[in-house]
Order: sequence, then structure tokens, then C-alpha cells
Amino acid sequence: MNLSKSQSLFREAEAIIPGGVNSPVRAFRSVGGTPPFLRRGAGAHIWDEDGNRYIDYVGSWGPLILGHAPPEVVAAAQAACALGSSFGAPTRSEVELARALVDAVPSVEMVRLVSSGTEAVMSALRLARAFNGRDRIVKFEGCYHGHSDGLLARAGSGLATLGIPDVPGVPAAYAEHTLTLPYNDTNAIETLMSEAGDTIAAIIVEPVAGNMGVVPAVPGFLEALRRTTQEHGALLIFDEVITGFRVARGGAQQRYDVLPDLTVLGKIIGGGFPLAAYGGRKEIMKMIAPSGPVYQAGTLSGNPVATAAGIATIRQLDSAAYARLEELGALLEEGLRRAASEAGRAISIHRVGSMLTLFFNPTAPLDYTSVKASDTAAYARLHRGLLKRGVYFPPSAFEAFFVSTAHTPEDIKVTVSAAKEAMQE
Ligand code: PMP
Repeated sequence: MNLSKSQSLFREAEAIIPGGVNSPVRAFRSVGGTPPFLRRGAGAHIWDEDGNRYIDYVGSWGPLILGHAPPEVVAAAQAACALGSSFGAPTRSEVELARALVDAVPSVEMVRLVSSGTEAVMSALRLARAFNGRDRIVKFEGCYHGHSDGLLARAGSGLATLGIPDVPGVPAAYAEHTLTLPYNDTNAIETLMSEAGDTIAAIIVEPVAGNMGVVPAVPGFLEALRRTTQEHGALLIFDEVITGFRVARGGAQQRYDVLPDLTVLGKIIGGGFPLAAYGGRKEIMKMIAPSGPVYQAGTLSGNPVATAAGIATIRQLDSAAYARLEELGALLEEGLRRAASEAGRAISIHRVGSMLTLFFNPTAPLDYTSVKASDTAAYARLHRGLLKRGVYFPPSAFEAFFVSTAHTPEDIKVTVSAAKEAMQE
């Protein structure tokens, strides 16, 4: 059998990299087939090693809000790189990016830059625990907060995709400190807090869930989290790794006007380079070393190439950019609804701005249990049908589709007619 270039690379990769990939969902296990190996991206389009072109709705899982290789970001990163790719010493661009984050995100008064979302969440939780001297944290089923021990319980993203409820290798003593409740269940959280609120260091939440597919918080849920944490002396942490600069410049906290104590950012703020951040109220952030005793450090933290790309990215994100993202998102949503209805398929869609998920589920799911009731085989068929028609949707039924400012109405039109054909197969 003649293998494509992607297939032979995957075969080689499988022999020397676990599952052939450096992050599980990339392996296409839940949609079938083998993944195209990507070689180049420009705007809304990507090309694989075999020269196939796709319209991309993954956008590197969220960072690429301007599309691939936007000229301003490429130029900024190239210029920074030419001046030295890492110093492990303070640089001007760290201050510039920190300033931009503090200015944009309503609750963030002080911010620390790190290299990945996982690292940022892990550090924010350590800080929360240090701040109020409590050990337990509450997370919600289907939310994903990176792969640190203690946050892998009933998590979304790759764990949802692969059906892994609890991960071996996490000490039970660690997992014990994580309490997990259903997303959007205000009663459950209020009951827990009234019974054990004084033992809870923090509640962490994706203010729009993006890792079980897109599931927005129902009206009142975030407000209830804010109220109950305040009542019981716990901290509220918004994990805005996806939603930060995505659903509004100031993230979900700006869009819904609920302000957390701590915020985790990632993806967009690094412009496609490894960069994330955590920030919040000064009195809390000042506990971080060297101004306080909570240790956290990183060789590549605040890396000059990543900060330059991040600054160049968020500089483009003005109100016109968000208006365009909203319009394109709506166009995709309406188009997919029409395609499904013409193909006679019962679906639902959740969309917040430029992030959305199509569920093969007649009722729009509001928590992880209902998300899991979706028809994942139908999604896998749609995914394969689109891939061969040049459209790259996320290779999992439980992930967000991202639109960038580089998508055009024409891209969306092509996508919608491909989706209709694929749903009729
Ligand atoms: N939090 C959220 C909400 C995420 O979506 C992700 C990654 N998809 C993370 C944390 C972890 O970030 P990273 O992959 O950069 O470690």
C-alpha cells in the first residue's frame, strides 16, 4: 500500500513518540484515521505534508485569533529573535505585555508570566492555598485546567475525548483535595459551600467551558460562584486560558461582568508561542516570590520572542476585530444549523463570539453528563467527511471550533456546503 507522507511520518512517530503525538487529541483516536502532518499555515488555511489545503477551525486550539502567520506577529517575533531568543533576565517586552494585560483584563492588577496554561493554573492554585491557608479546591466536571496532578479528575479536553475519568500516577492524597461538581449546577455548589466552605481554598472554573465542547455558564451561575466564595472566604479563579482575549478583549469576566480574584490566561496572549500568565488582586499576587514566600519560577518565563508575539497579537484586537469575530461566528453558526436541518440531522450549537461547538445532540448540553450523551460517532463521520473536503474541524466531539479574523465569509460558505454534504453521507 502506498502511504501518504503524513501516514509514513505518523508510522515513524508512533515508534518513537507515545501514540505518535506530543499531545493526545492530535492522534485522531476519537475520529478515526491518521492525522495530517501540518507544514504551513497562512491566514485561515493550513497545508499538510502532502500538499492538501484545509480551512482551519482549530487555530492551534485557540491562540491563533488572527489566523496563521499574521505579518505583524511574524515580524515582531523575528525581530525579537534576532536580538536574542532568551536572557533569563528582565526585558522591556515583559513589562509591555504585563501592562497590556493589566489594562485589558478588569480584575487583574498584577500579573506573572509563565510558559503554559498548565503551569499558570498550577501556580494560581498554590497561591490561592497559600493566601487562605486551606487545601481543598473545587472544579467542575468537563472543565480542563491543564494536566497537573489534582486537576485531572473528571476533566475535559483529551481526557473527555479518550474517556479517561481518573489518571493513574496521581497520588490519592493529592486527588483528595479536589472536589468535583457538575458545571452550571448552582444548587450543588451552594450546598457544598454551606457544608464545607471554610475548608475550600478556591473554586476554579472556565467561565465559558471550552473543553467539553463550548458550554456557556447559564445566567446566574458565575454570579453564584462569586457570591458564595466571598461569603466563605474562598477565592474565585477564572481559567480564561481560552476565553481571555477571545470572547472579549477583557475575557469572559468583561463579557459577563463578574470579577474573579485570580485569572489564568494563556493561548492568545502568546500569539502562538509558549506563554501564559496568572494575575489578580495585588494583595494576593504580592505573596509570590520574591515579594512573598510562594515560590514559582521559570527559565523561559516571559521569553522575549513569546512576549513580542503576544504584544503584536493583542495590539490587533480592537473593537472592530471583535465585531468581525462575532459576525463570522454567527455566520458559521447559522450556516451549520441550516446545513444540519437540510441534511435532516438533529444537532445543537453553543456559540460565544468566535468559539462554538456543534453537538450531535438535539438539546444543547449544559453540563458534562449531557455533553457525553452526544452522538460522537456522528461527529467522527462529519470530521472525516470535512477533512476530505478540505475543512479541518477539531478531531474530537468535545472541543471548541475557533474562528479567526483571517476567516472570510467565503471560507465559511465553503465550510457550510462541505458540512451539508458530509452530514448527508
Ligand atoms: N486551561 C484551559 C481552560 C485550557 O483550555 C488549557 C489548554 N487547552 C489549559 C488550561 C492548559 O494549557 P496548556 O495546554 O498551555 O498547558
